[in-house]
Amino acid sequence: MTTAPQATRSAPFGGPADLILRGGPVITLDAANTVVEALAIRSGEIIAVGSAADISALKGPMTQVIELDGRAVLPGINDAHLHGSWLGARWPSLFFGGGDSGHDGRLLNNADERRAALRKTWALLAAHGITSYTEPGIGPGEDQGETGCFGTAMLDTYVELAGTEAQTARVTMLRLFGFLDGASTFADMRAGLAVPAPSTDPRWLAIPGVKIFADGIPPMHSAWTRTAYPKGGYGGLMTGTGDEAERLAEFTAMVELAHGMDLQIGVHATGDRTIEEFVGIIEKLGGAGERRHYLIHVDLVSGEQLRRMTAAGIGLALQPLIADHTADWLAGAVSAEAAASAWPIHLMLEDGLRAVLSSDAPIASFDWRRIIASAAGLLEQRGVAVDPAQLTRLLRMYTSIPAEQDGAEGWKGTLEPGKVGDLCVLSADPYSVGAANLPEIDVDLTIVGGIVVFDRSHATAESIIA
Ligand SMILES: [Zn+2]
Repeated sequence: MTTAPQATRSAPFGGPADLILRGGPVITLDAANTVVEALAIRSGEIIAVGSAADISALKGPMTQVIELDGRAVLPGINDAHLHGSWLGARWPSLFFGGGDSGHDGRLLNNADERRAALRKTWALLAAHGITSYTEPGIGPGEDQGETGCFGTAMLDTYVELAGTEAQTARVTMLRLFGFLDGASTFADMRAGLAVPAPSTDPRWLAIPGVKIFADGIPPMHSAWTRTAYPKGGYGGLMTGTGDEAERLAEFTAMVELAHGMDLQIGVHATGDRTIEEFVGIIEKLGGAGERRHYLIHVDLVSGEQLRRMTAAGIGLALQPLIADHTADWLAGAVSAEAAASAWPIHLMLEDGLRAVLSSDAPIASFDWRRIIASAAGLLEQRGVAVDPAQLTRLLRMYTSIPAEQDGAEGWKGTLEPGKVGDLCVLSADPYSVGAANLPEIDVDLTIVGGIVVFDRSHATAESIIA
């Protein structure tokens, strides 16, 4: 860290700020949880944060000034598990909690439709303060898929639109060499990985790894569990074919291949047996290290497994709103004991565990305010009072911690000098209303790379409904 004043530090390209926001709580979510009054951006980057007086000194004749009048600023929201192409293709239909259900079968047929789906999603996300997301699973495994949302052609569309004006959210993508929510094989993964990922500007489209669908979901008795379902059976892995041992060998080989190539691995894993096996494989490989592997959903994870994940550098992506929508369904399928200990979010708040909140849209809404309220509800059910410190943690699980999952904490995820100017302006201070009431707060502005990409005062009603 430099000790020089910001204006001096940026002198070579210096001069006044392009954009100043001042007069409200700027919740930086830096390591010290600093809250300041104002922030300045130049050339897409935050150049200074501090008092309104200090920041106002960076104002020049061309500087745009946004008066916050008490409104709050947060780092841009990062939804670490959101199917962007599918959301845009299905909108306004969600699987849980919204829209009609007449959006099955083939959704995207050509390049125009693929572009339109992404543009739709980006507009929706901009209207909700979301400036980054992970697109979890695009690749050749879905070239014959029924929706047309996840194949190689969609990868090409992402590459084509990356960094254009239409793209108002930064994308991290995991490649997929099997079917979405379906089977995959080591042979297909090896063949797929032999084709390098396209080279892209990683600040707009990063492609750091692969997605593996390991098991199903507990309500369908397809999550792989250590204890039998009351109706019988243990579920199982979707990797490979054959008996349990063969499927596990296939899964192990796939993980070892991607890990050995230094790729990040995101694993759909809901059953405690699946989680156990993945953690064991990574422990044997010496931990995830900088690859930052993570488990997605983790419905039936145990406290002991969470501790081992922390030690092995394995993160997780949780979807509290899906837990809300499916808790009764899950309770009808697993033992009362398993249902009571499902989604143990109260054990996921420790520093060191890379746990993030996410939507899995279009399975459920991508409205992060509702998802944080759901997370707060789950915490309260488990006896944890959601005080301001817990709210800070929940906000971090949507900003700074997913930036770590993206391997991008050096340049996004908090509001600090040197990071990109990705942020949202909220109509009120989240700490003044509390986590449970967050859905009452509006997103007034969304800014990506210093550019205003959403302004509620100019928005049409249609564009802001989710
Ligand atoms: Zn998903």
